[in-house]
Amino acid sequence: MAEKEIDLRKMVKHVRGTVEFIHHDKARCTGCGRCVNICPMELWELKKSKAFISPDYAEKCVECGSCWLVCESNAIEFSYPEGGTGVIWEYG
Ligand code: SF4
Ligand code: SF4
Repeated sequence: MAEKEIDLRKMVKHVRGTVEFIHHDKARCTGCGRCVNICPMELWELKKSKAFISPDYAEKCVECGSCWLVCESNAIEFSYPEGGTGVIWEYG
């Protein structure tokens, strides 16, 4: 586990929502790796030229939206979790 990931997790709490807030369209994914490189929590990985997001992303994602912003293929849909759920910043 990368040190930067540990540091960020110390700063947040998560309240798990009931709906998914990141959707990945593998048919559109070109495997460029931009989401893998940008995610501060290292939640994306490439397998056989397609990106995959960690199954437990909802408990670790800090909702920065970077993966959605850098995906030039519109393969990622991101929306903030429903009110009262998601990441809660404790410090900063
Ligand atoms: S940035 Fe988009 S196209 Fe590139 S690997 Fe990630 S999901 Fe696939
Ligand atoms: S929103 Fe940010 S932390 Fe969450 S998966 Fe995308 S890049 Fe990673």
